[in-house]
Amino acid sequence: MVESTSAIPPVDIAIIGAGPTGLFAAFYAGLRQMSVTLIDSLDMPGGQLATLYPEKYIYDAPGFPRVLAKDLAGSLIEQGLQYKPTVCLGEQVTTLDFDSATHVFNLSTSKQSHRTRSILIAAGVGAFSAKTLPLTNAGQYVGHGLYYFVSQVDTFRDKRVLIVGGGDSAVDWANTLSGVAGQVTLIHRRDQFRAHEQAVAQMGRSAVAVKVFHELKAIGGEGRIEHATIFDNRTKAEEALAVDAILVNIGFSNTLGPIKNWGLDLEGAAIKVDGMMQTSRPGIFAAGDVATYPGKLKLIATGFGEAAIAVNYAKHYLDPAANIFPGHSTNLKPPQGGAHGR
Ligand code: NAP
Repeated sequence: MVESTSAIPPVDIAIIGAGPTGLFAAFYAGLRQMSVTLIDSLDMPGGQLATLYPEKYIYDAPGFPRVLAKDLAGSLIEQGLQYKPTVCLGEQVTTLDFDSATHVFNLSTSKQSHRTRSILIAAGVGAFSAKTLPLTNAGQYVGHGLYYFVSQVDTFRDKRVLIVGGGDSAVDWANTLSGVAGQVTLIHRRDQFRAHEQAVAQMGRSAVAVKVFHELKAIGGEGRIEHATIFDNRTKAEEALAVDAILVNIGFSNTLGPIKNWGLDLEGAAIKVDGMMQTSRPGIFAAGDVATYPGKLKLIATGFGEAAIAVNYAKHYLDPAANIFPGHSTNLKPPQGGAHGR
């Protein structure tokens, strides 16, 4: 049910997306004394760093010769939440209305309605969800041996694990789980992998049993996954496997979803912005992978810069007397009980 929140004063900025760009924007808005609501469709902050490749090193994050994605996400979460924004997870944005009398946006989500004076869309590739198995009984096993995400490596400790897929997710998890699970088998429907060649080579040297030209035909078990039937798609020969867990990594669907209907100028699935990260609608800004402009590069590093630009211009949009340039953070006070500004 969507709650009525008209009695609650609007926040200064609602940030859609709690990935690296959205988290840095939340920090920056706090630094600029703005009240913030941070919204994400996923159940945890950190975006792709936390959900897609937490165990991978990132080499192009400024200030870190190399950093594990989950560690970078952890630091961004600590930094982004230090001014105590309202964090709303597991909420997908739906509709947006603007009240021209009060200059307040009413932003509805799958759970509630938010009132905000400005918006920053930092939705990355959009709300994303794992592609699911096209088997009729798959739904009953989700969380009972069938997984589309790994949140705890320990879930697979000493288990017989079947991984489906040939992209980075499947191969990365095969490599990570090979030292944790009792046994790992990976099946892929062809003999070419989308995954990074170094990761594929590492898998080749590991104990992972790799079966190319193989697909999943059936899964079963009493209450939880106990067995799977795979088949060779060249010969149609079937093989029964006793398994405790199946990790399906067959890709993600991502979509801008209802944001497409908010009247913003788009270029493909990206939102067009100007040099101030403003979209075609006043008061709505975009930054990170979802934003496009001539010369755009989709990097975490550029997302950080775009977040700072967007927040400073959102501040100026809300209060034209406010400086656009915030000053250097070394001169700013740290938040109460929070980390020091740099
Ligand atoms: P992905 O790259 O889309 O790969 C999906 C894999 O599943 C492909 O190998 C595909 O086979 C296979 N597949 C798709 N539908 C299938 C079906 N119905 N039955 C059997 N197999 C099926 O997905 P992802 O691995 O999750 O990666 C998503 C994005 O995140 C990519 O851009 C990836 O590079 C990125 N990522 C990066 C890292 C990293 O940097 N370490 C880690 C994880 C993910 P085909 O190849 O035959 O199409």
